[in-house]
Amino acid sequence: MKIKLLIAVFFLTKIVVAQSYKEVKGGLLPERACFDVGYYDLHLTINPDEKTIKGHNVITFKVVKATKKIQIDLFKNLDIDSVVFENKKLSYERKFDAFFIDFPFELELNKNYSVAVYYGGKPRTNIGVRSTDGFHWKTHNKLPLVGVACQIVGASVWYPCKEYLGDEPDSVRLHWTVPVQLQCISNGKLEKVESSPIAGYKTSHWVVRNPINSYNVTIYLGDYQKVSGVYINASGRHSMEYYFLKKNDKSTKEAEKEKFYVQMGLTFVAFCEKMFGEYAFWNDKLAVVETVYDGMEHQSCVAVGSLRENPMGYAYAEDVNLHGTLIHELAHEWWGNAVSSSDMGDMWLHEGFATYTEYLFIEQMYGKKTYEAEISKMYENALSGLGGNVYKAQTDKILAPRNVYSNQVFGMQGQIYWAGAHFLHALRKEINNDTVFFDILRTFYERYKKKTVLTENFLQIVNEKTNKDWTQYFKNGLE
Ligand SMILES: [Zn+2]
Repeated sequence: MKIKLLIAVFFLTKIVVAQSYKEVKGGLLPERACFDVGYYDLHLTINPDEKTIKGHNVITFKVVKATKKIQIDLFKNLDIDSVVFENKKLSYERKFDAFFIDFPFELELNKNYSVAVYYGGKPRTNIGVRSTDGFHWKTHNKLPLVGVACQIVGASVWYPCKEYLGDEPDSVRLHWTVPVQLQCISNGKLEKVESSPIAGYKTSHWVVRNPINSYNVTIYLGDYQKVSGVYINASGRHSMEYYFLKKNDKSTKEAEKEKFYVQMGLTFVAFCEKMFGEYAFWNDKLAVVETVYDGMEHQSCVAVGSLRENPMGYAYAEDVNLHGTLIHELAHEWWGNAVSSSDMGDMWLHEGFATYTEYLFIEQMYGKKTYEAEISKMYENALSGLGGNVYKAQTDKILAPRNVYSNQVFGMQGQIYWAGAHFLHALRKEINNDTVFFDILRTFYERYKKKTVLTENFLQIVNEKTNKDWTQYFKNGLE
């Protein structure tokens, strides 16, 4: 998608003396600002026994400022075999978790080019308490169970890409070569499965026909069983897929639980479509995949953890019978995946909005009184750190600095989640007119779905719909 030109102009006019890690990782240096990513064609062989990956990504981009050098990101622990452009190997210089490719001639404005990066190695294994640091290599039913989530560290932890939230590829193709006995689930639509020249391996080919955040690209490998739910809306009949980890001797209770999750997902999707607008990726698909990590909003195939019922550390009241992670990750399809922040500093647009959507759903299912009680309990717990809640709101800000990859916003204080959701709750009270408030949310979604945004874009709609300037209110609440 289009990069933020204004920010680009700012950086292009600045004389860059030395580049810090944060600037390279999160900024828009000239070597990044000069191109707009169009398409990734990622081919990867995944070996669960060795915990290795090997393959290449063909990156197609459009030049927005003539250049001889571009920046691509890849963690330094992964080896680059070669960078190939028009059948020739190019030289490149690695710096922090990025590399700068030198082209033999100046790439022309508005022209499209493709460059292939061949690479491999042992990608980082998830080490944090959250699910968002890298690969998960587990076993289930005596078979490998593999997943990858990277919202905090970034997608370059496992594949070469432009690690900049403000520039998403318009589409991607994913080709996974994996052990033949494992089910392979990924983003978008499965085009075909072929046998691989590697003994005991197969290749499954997927296509995503929509813009996608680089951290949303993923793969799930394991012993899965598919269950489908039928979803009908004004645009037609759709299928919502669930991939549950296969259980031996499945009990009636477990089967009931699966049915319950399927129904909850369908009800929640209908709710979001009613409140905000139609799901943006029906032409790809909508799936929920059970994982060993806590959850992640992987576009068109969200991950929901299985080991803990409330892995994000919060629980609704006993009579609120909802799976928090399931509805939170699905809510991200609207907030985060369709409407995406263009900077880490504004990630409350993903997390605060998705969290608030959980509470709106509680209101729909259990009424206003329960909504009020749950949201104040959530906020009090967040402030005090009590009630088994691992998050402490304290005094941190919701908005973080831009262009420096402010991933500390995901720190344990959880400010972008709880305080972000509470900010929307307070804004709704202040506006004191639900018709206007929900029109704001719907307009924000409809205007910016499949685009990247900053907080100012939301503020502008609030101002527009209320005929009032909320700039100071936003400053007080967010900064
Ligand atoms: Zn989230």
